[in-house]
Amino acid sequence: MALKPSAGSRAADATARRCGVCGQESRQFLFRPGPPEQAPDLDLRPGEPVRGTMARWLQQCPHCGYAAPDIARAHPAAAAAVGAAPFRALIAEGGHPPLARRFLAWAHVLEETGALHAAAEATLHAAWVADDLGQTELACDWRLDAVALWRGGPPLDHEQTVRVIDALRRAEAFPDAGATAEDLARSSPPEAVAQVIALERRLIAAGDAGRHSVASALPPPSRRPHATMRGPRSPVGEGFFAKLKRLFRRG
Ligand SMILES: [Zn+2]
Repeated sequence: MALKPSAGSRAADATARRCGVCGQESRQFLFRPGPPEQAPDLDLRPGEPVRGTMARWLQQCPHCGYAAPDIARAHPAAAAAVGAAPFRALIAEGGHPPLARRFLAWAHVLEETGALHAAAEATLHAAWVADDLGQTELACDWRLDAVALWRGGPPLDHEQTVRVIDALRRAEAFPDAGATAEDLARSSPPEAVAQVIALERRLIAAGDAGRHSVASALPPPSRRPHATMRGPRSPVGEGFFAKLKRLFRRG
């Protein structure tokens, strides 16, 4: 039986990593998160204890500024992106919180190497940093940047589209959020997704740009006639929101 993880991390061992971009060594922590115990937000920002560990999600090379979950790994095109003026400007932007700059630096490399959805995810992480610091304008800007990256990449599935809707709502882009939610609701999404869309639509109608938990979208099992038929095992092909529902529904 493994020991219960503390502060969302099983191990935080410092180790020497050779940067995949510039080749220089530095001491870095390997971050291996434990399981979240609280339900995530509607944009899938994890609950505690993982939520509070963002400072350890990315490593950053102190020599060239490259930031990644593991700086020893780099896309062949990463060195060109890291050496170019836009990246240098990003990591030097004094008006942005340092931790947010690290996520934006990683997002920039992902975007430059064609991984648009992963870039959106990293940009959303920068918005979460801004949320925690009460920097609402930056959080809005970065959510809208994330939405542009999501929409610029391959077609989105139902669950990713919910995150786009949530990012738009949190950025107070209510008309776009509402139209996107309406389109998604018409596309016969799975039940758990439909329940999250229903909550999003209520929040959008109320002009609510606040943070809400996935658990608040999922009704307790007593309202679900067939819930007792379900075993503890995850059904094959179960979507992510359905899995969350099983783990975190408000009972
Ligand atoms: Zn480096």
